[in-house]
Amino acid sequence: MNKEERIELANLLFPNITKTREYYEEKYPKRNLEANQMVTRFGPSPTGFVHMGSLFGAFCDSVFAKQSKGIFYLRIEDTDQKRSVENGIDGIFNDLDAFQIIPDESEKAGGKYGPYIQSLRTEIYQTYVKDLIINGYAYPCFIKEEELAKIREEQELAKIKIGIYGLYAVDRDLTLEEIKAKLNNKEEYVIRLKSPGNINNTIEFIDCIKGKIKLPENDMDIVLLKKDGTPTYHLAHVIDDHLMHTTHVIRGDEWVPSLSIHLQLFEILGFEIPKYAHTAPITKKDNGNIRKLSKRKDPEAKVSYYEEVGIPIEAVKLYLATILNSNFEEWYLNNSEKSFEEFTFTFDKMAVGGTLFDLEKLNNISKTYFSRKSGKEIYQETLEYSKKFDYNYYELLLKNKEDMILFLSIEKDGPRPRKDISKYSDVKEEFSYAIDELFEKEKYQKYDGNKKYDINLIKKYMEILNLEVDNETWFNDIKEFAIKNGYAASPKEYKNNPEMYKGHVGDICEAIRVIVTGRTKSPDLFSILKILGKERIQKRIELYTEIML
Ligand code: GLU
Repeated sequence: MNKEERIELANLLFPNITKTREYYEEKYPKRNLEANQMVTRFGPSPTGFVHMGSLFGAFCDSVFAKQSKGIFYLRIEDTDQKRSVENGIDGIFNDLDAFQIIPDESEKAGGKYGPYIQSLRTEIYQTYVKDLIINGYAYPCFIKEEELAKIREEQELAKIKIGIYGLYAVDRDLTLEEIKAKLNNKEEYVIRLKSPGNINNTIEFIDCIKGKIKLPENDMDIVLLKKDGTPTYHLAHVIDDHLMHTTHVIRGDEWVPSLSIHLQLFEILGFEIPKYAHTAPITKKDNGNIRKLSKRKDPEAKVSYYEEVGIPIEAVKLYLATILNSNFEEWYLNNSEKSFEEFTFTFDKMAVGGTLFDLEKLNNISKTYFSRKSGKEIYQETLEYSKKFDYNYYELLLKNKEDMILFLSIEKDGPRPRKDISKYSDVKEEFSYAIDELFEKEKYQKYDGNKKYDINLIKKYMEILNLEVDNETWFNDIKEFAIKNGYAASPKEYKNNPEMYKGHVGDICEAIRVIVTGRTKSPDLFSILKILGKERIQKRIELYTEIML
């Protein structure tokens, strides 16, 4: 076909496309940014809930754009209508909102490079494909589904590459007359790339994360536009990343094998190639094996999981930062007062193989996060969480506000703050002794020891208990009380001469602790006693006597 015929064909196939490439190039001019300012995009498909792997991708995109004072935008990639689910787009917006990963541009936030939903950009893709047809880089392909299946079968049998290329690309050189006849016949068609590549050539490419990648050149006549005129991912991402002036395409490394197609498309379309950063998949240890985090098997793969169990979004983001850059964790531990945004993330500190997602580690990070919050902040956030997920507890928290804040503030100062909470739902459990109603309901169910304490000794202790002193005086008092009652003043003394004592001061403290908190471990005992006050302690002694003895 000569150029004139190709122009005729292009007009025949796209009678409604009246705009030109130049129109769009002008409509979406280069962004006014410095060379180091990155433009990144998150391009999810609305195929169901946002997976942790996608969220990790969005987090990377936003971190790199923000730290370079660039642009992070959200582009909904809904060209595969078969895979799209109802409310999928709303779900993406909600999940990003919940994690405070806020795009600078999107269909909601606006921006000069929209629409930011691919299904609204069909005319743009078709304009460029029309141009490719004129330039001899694309053609209509009428191969029917049954024929495609047959070709596939043949290729599978011969153990050769599956697809339309070389001899299999039978519609490549149809004449204009032949095409017209098929169109008149109302035969269905797709538009394919007329690949100029040769499989025997190797291309080299530098990926920001993986370094040098070598791939065979693409020789496949891949589909550009489907039967309904909508684009494939290959075409859409190339055109969009060009027109939206993406500088860094950060995406999952399952796309590496298609890279040669994408580079070829950039080249024949005459576009500048962006930088690519292919991220390793998020994996998980499962019975000693490492596998991809699974939407089906792993509740933690769903981003709504974190809200439901009450792991603060900030803690999840801190964890994402930890798996994003291998040197982040150390920095964070040494810079307790800084926000993660102050760290400089780099591609060379990203994992090349799999990125292990470890819920236990996330919990530890969350504990550190909580340990740095004040009692008042934890109270407020737990209150908000409970309002949504545990209304009874919410009401109890409201009623016991002052006490609760005091309890949550124990052992908060000093270099080693308490690390006992990793999620909001832990507060109810860890501080069950803080609210009388809860304590009385649960009583000593949580106490799994079978030791019976000398309740008379504790009753006697109540006579000398003075809460109006400092911690040191209180402890000296209890030591004196121990000695008077036949107990050693320290575990060491007891160990040296066990036959001389009934026990040591620690045993008395343990008895008091179990009686007032229902557990053998708790934050600083004297602080708890002070907040409870003598009357409530007395009541718990009675409760213990009634239930445990
Ligand atoms: N829509 C593609 C996906 O969901 C995005 C890939 C990309 O970021 O380019 O896998």
